[in-house]
Amino acid sequence: MRIPLAAPDLSGNELRYVAEAVQSSWISSTGPFVSRFESTFAELCGVRSALSVSSGTAALHLALLALGAGPGDEVIVPSLTYVATANAVRYVGAKPVFVDIDLSTWCLDPEGVETAFTPRTKGIIAVHLYGHPADMDALAALADQRGAWVLEDAAEAHFATYKGRPVGSLGAMATFSFYGNKPLTCGEGGAVTTSAVRLAERARLLRGQGMDPERRYYFSIVGYNYRLTNVACALLCAQLERRDTLLARRREIFNLYQELLDGIPGVEFQPIAPWAEPTPWLFSVVIDPRRYGRSRDELARVLADAGIETRPFFVPLHTLPPYLHSSSQGHPRLPRTEMLASRGMNLPTHTSLDDRDVAFVADVIRRSHR
Ligand SMILES: *Cc1c(COP(=O)(O)O)cnc(C)c1O
Repeated sequence: MRIPLAAPDLSGNELRYVAEAVQSSWISSTGPFVSRFESTFAELCGVRSALSVSSGTAALHLALLALGAGPGDEVIVPSLTYVATANAVRYVGAKPVFVDIDLSTWCLDPEGVETAFTPRTKGIIAVHLYGHPADMDALAALADQRGAWVLEDAAEAHFATYKGRPVGSLGAMATFSFYGNKPLTCGEGGAVTTSAVRLAERARLLRGQGMDPERRYYFSIVGYNYRLTNVACALLCAQLERRDTLLARRREIFNLYQELLDGIPGVEFQPIAPWAEPTPWLFSVVIDPRRYGRSRDELARVLADAGIETRPFFVPLHTLPPYLHSSSQGHPRLPRTEMLASRGMNLPTHTSLDDRDVAFVADVIRRSHR
């Protein structure tokens, strides 16, 4: 593909810091970059603790364990998300209960969440989809009334804000991913954030194989090896230094797409709630086949023929084999999720695109309307 969907931007101090980590021979999971990353990230998210972990999926698993989710419990999740959100619920033996999205945010619909609560509901995973924060106050109010928690899956939404407060600080705990296509990356990696000392300690213990912090090589529980290396944290420290520039360029690309695609019949964008300042992750369009004259998949083929890589929206998790029968009522219908999933696509969004690339993508989309 001439224009890929995503590409990491490693043009700052990334190479220098990685070389420093290698030269110092601190290449495992202790070292100055690990502590620097964790303290900087915690401060930027407005929380007491950030733990670096080996992936966003590991972060979700650790957070669910720390929050005490287990067999017999239900956890409310959106169906329009990456599969890891629900898989982590399964890892701890709990059951994901899928709820539809709100079309004004593309995130969990609080009304749907309210009706999905049962006496077994332990908590809610609020996914900030494509960088747009979920309506956290509404979800927290519902959870509080029932003694449940809210876990934020902020894998795609680093530094987005909700009513002026950063994601990562809005629930009992939050998780992030630093996979290669995310707004901030170290290839593979993740983080767990929280301000609750007990939850942070629990997550730290589980991350490090369960080793007693007071007694080396004494294991008080069965833990995991979910640590992140000093080499990966070196990349993250360099990324953090340039976070404003990286996000500003993504935002310019978003604005340019929006401007150039405006007014094409049947092409719509992700709405932005008045209280949200989203992180521009991957620019999304929703294709109404009747008005646009082609389906999303047809448009994707036209774009691919022009050398442009795109990505269809997530396949709704409640329709995938592992989750098809997860509801006791049978396959629930989630009409808004299913509609968006069949019509939505992500367009190339990364800092190595120049304005002409964006104009070219927009032009192909405009010319393909019929
Ligand atoms: C990327 C992603 C994850 C998982 O992150 P990995 O680092 O790939 O394990 C989880 N949830 C969402 C919403 C994601 O986009």
